[in-house]
Amino acid sequence: MKYSATIGLEVHVQIKTASKMFCSCRNSFGEPPNTLVCPVCMGLPGVMPAPNRTAILKTIAAGMLTECQISRFSKFDRKSYFYPDMPKNYQISQYDLPFCKGGRIKVGGRGFSGAPLPEKTIGITRIHLEEDVGKLNHLGRNSGVDFNRAGIPLMEIVSEPDMSTPDEAYAYLEALKEIMRYAGISGCDMEKGQMRCDVNVSVRPEGQKEFGTKIELKNLNSFRAVHRSLEYEMERQMEALRNGEKLYQETRGWNDDKGESYLMRRKESAHDYRYFPEPDMPPFVIDDALLEEIRRTLPELPAAKRARFVAQYAITAYDAEVLTQDKDVADYFDAAAGLGANPKSVANWIISEILKELNERKISISECKVKPEHLAEIVRAVASGAINSGSGKEVLADVFKTGGSPSEIIAKKGLSQISDESGIAKFADEVIAEFPAQAAEFRSGKEKVLQFLIGQLMKKSKGKANPQVAAKILSEKLKA
Ligand code: ADP
Ligand code: ZN
Ligand code: MG
Repeated sequence: MKYSATIGLEVHVQIKTASKMFCSCRNSFGEPPNTLVCPVCMGLPGVMPAPNRTAILKTIAAGMLTECQISRFSKFDRKSYFYPDMPKNYQISQYDLPFCKGGRIKVGGRGFSGAPLPEKTIGITRIHLEEDVGKLNHLGRNSGVDFNRAGIPLMEIVSEPDMSTPDEAYAYLEALKEIMRYAGISGCDMEKGQMRCDVNVSVRPEGQKEFGTKIELKNLNSFRAVHRSLEYEMERQMEALRNGEKLYQETRGWNDDKGESYLMRRKESAHDYRYFPEPDMPPFVIDDALLEEIRRTLPELPAAKRARFVAQYAITAYDAEVLTQDKDVADYFDAAAGLGANPKSVANWIISEILKELNERKISISECKVKPEHLAEIVRAVASGAINSGSGKEVLADVFKTGGSPSEIIAKKGLSQISDESGIAKFADEVIAEFPAQAAEFRSGKEKVLQFLIGQLMKKSKGKANPQVAAKILSEKLKA
């Protein structure tokens, strides 16, 4: 019997704001425990929540960027539960009227292993806004609660059960992260808990119409863990069915060290949470003017940017993909290509020189001392023949260290290319005199040896000769 899997993801994304969702405490990561707290986010009795407008606007922006319908009327609800991460024993969340519903995103590109993945559209069921809760830190047999995280605005993005492989789930997460980062909605750094993900997965015999029994996996703290746990869990469920076992709807944890999932609990259903409307906050009316205000803040998304780069700058689809992976890199390319340097060359220099260097130094492009105008100047100097490409790389390396002006570096280091024929002719004569055997080889028809002679000439000129002119003069002299 063959089985196929069904996967749906519930992704929590912390929203980048100055302050928390319902109070004025700072929204920040990595501070000493319980230093960013107040009576509101500690859940003391009698306090009043005051909603953060930026968080709401960013949630709606996330909905627009994922083609959701934006609700014109929305409200918060209380989700009751009992756990020490929230002393008031409820979380302010949204139940039946989330800000965004019924969207979709295109995923594709690459799977976890880097293998190409066909493009697919994944439905978004809803995006709602809630407050994050405290974080339990387990210290031996005792546990402490850090409420710095409590009250940070948190979006929950629920997907339709539209995925069927671990690679699709991975690509979906990549696509979501890319959108959120492009729009400045969230840093989506999983290590900082800014993006967290629960995975729902079921399997069914191929040909069966109804979905199989859904199992939810929790504690997945990297995209790799999502991919691995799905591979494991699909196989576990299929094996159970092959053995005639029954599967129950349950919540399982993932142990990344052992590479296994384990039973946490059999699943509760929504009515256990006793949702009811938040009585301390009036509902929201979202009008045309507000939607227009948010629409004006939306960025150009990676897919649109890629298409534009290919059309406007005539670069390859592959180069456009590399350049748009990070919005700052894309903006950098846009700026440099707009400064009169050949866009294809600019793309090449960024991809093969700058990104490589940034990677080695483990810094981002915004920290790079080579600004778009520096790169454009170097690319123009190489294109015009003022310097050769070897010197271009030397200038780039210098700007990387000093942030200095390329033209001053060219002058200071005397890198101006020698293109005038008399200067190069002198070097050519010397090379032919010093390497008579190779010169004779060339004359006897082995023209490949010319590369060697050009190399010698370049060396004599300390890399400054124009290689094309050198080739022309050398072969003219040898043939004469
Ligand atoms: P619950 O009420 O248990 O939270 P939902 O219907 O809200 O369940 O779905 C939660 C997530 O599980 C969604 O992302 C959805 O796409 C996914 N899902 C629903 N049914 C299945 C299934 N049979 N197999 C896999 N994923 C599913
Ligand atoms: Zn607070
Ligand atoms: Mg649910």
